[in-house]
Amino acid sequence: MIIVMEPGAGEREIAAVEAKIRQHGLGVHVSRGTERTLVGAVGDERPLAPEMFETMPGVERALHIVKPYKVVAREWHRTSTTIDVRGALIGGDEVQMIAGPCSVETPDQMSAAADAVAAGGARLMRGGAFKPRTSPYAFQGKGVDGLKLLKDAAARHALPIVTELMDVRMLDTFLAQGVDVIQVGTRNMQNFDLLKEVGRVDVPVILKRGMSATIAEWLMAAEYVAAGGNHKIVLCERGIRTFETAYRNVLDVTAIPVLKRETHLPVIVDPSHAGGKAWMVPALSCAAVAAGADGLLVEVHPDPAQAWCDADQALTPAEFAALMARLDAVASAVGRGLARRSTGEAPAAAQADPTARAMR
Ligand code: PEP
Ligand code: MN
Repeated sequence: MIIVMEPGAGEREIAAVEAKIRQHGLGVHVSRGTERTLVGAVGDERPLAPEMFETMPGVERALHIVKPYKVVAREWHRTSTTIDVRGALIGGDEVQMIAGPCSVETPDQMSAAADAVAAGGARLMRGGAFKPRTSPYAFQGKGVDGLKLLKDAAARHALPIVTELMDVRMLDTFLAQGVDVIQVGTRNMQNFDLLKEVGRVDVPVILKRGMSATIAEWLMAAEYVAAGGNHKIVLCERGIRTFETAYRNVLDVTAIPVLKRETHLPVIVDPSHAGGKAWMVPALSCAAVAAGADGLLVEVHPDPAQAWCDADQALTPAEFAALMARLDAVASAVGRGLARRSTGEAPAAAQADPTARAMR
């Protein structure tokens, strides 16, 4: 950290700053210029905050010179992290697709959804059993029964499962049920107790961006998970709140290259919650892959009109298959492949459906 003294700062004020730095176990380097004096704190500056100095007499401002996040920062870990979810790699050469319904509803719906996810060629399945709904009167999810439905449906196609954890008290149940990837949703990005707990387990975590979170806040949230020892973190951009009301959220495509520079963690994109409409999903998906996303988290429902949650944004199975075919081309164009199930039945279904709503 560098502490910039005011032009008229005297020796006593400089000495007080030096003493405070030393109190925190760091060394001091003082640089006296013609106009002002700079005091450098030498060592691990993470225990220091600018406010600790900016309230002291004679101090103009204090600035961090290294990033406040460490484990997740690329400056400390140059090589990109790849996370292996039962053989499906997130952050590797290929773009990884995670697909499934917003919420787990019924055995038939989940069975058809799993068939669609597998037929489209995705290697991981999503589905919410605990739903963070704006209204307490809206469907809240099937709970533990939903976890079982998701697991059984996905198991028929050997798909690892991704599902949202809202409450620390359910963590043991998630582990007991063999949840492969724990999702922390936008509304919980700064639920620090939840982050600390998922930081203690050895299960990959998808950390969605808080809808009003800055990149730095998001990375600090990831640092909470990493600080507990769990470094298997995937960041998921899912759209942020702006003044625009024409779509559900604004997909912050810019976050992708910025994160790639700032962190070694994989970055995926959720185009479904960003746009909020199924017809926007293909365009946002293509943009995300072109911008360097390591994967996508997409809502797919066997019959979107009947979905209990987020009906407007779910793709039909045919739309999803068509999207996979399109993303194959985009991923190849940017020098990456699209990960596909080895039994990959995919693009045939896409071509067989020229009326696909999402493709128009
Ligand atoms: C979800 O993925 O189902 C979800 C609720 O997402 P978000 O937390 O991004 O709103
Ligand atoms: Mn949803």
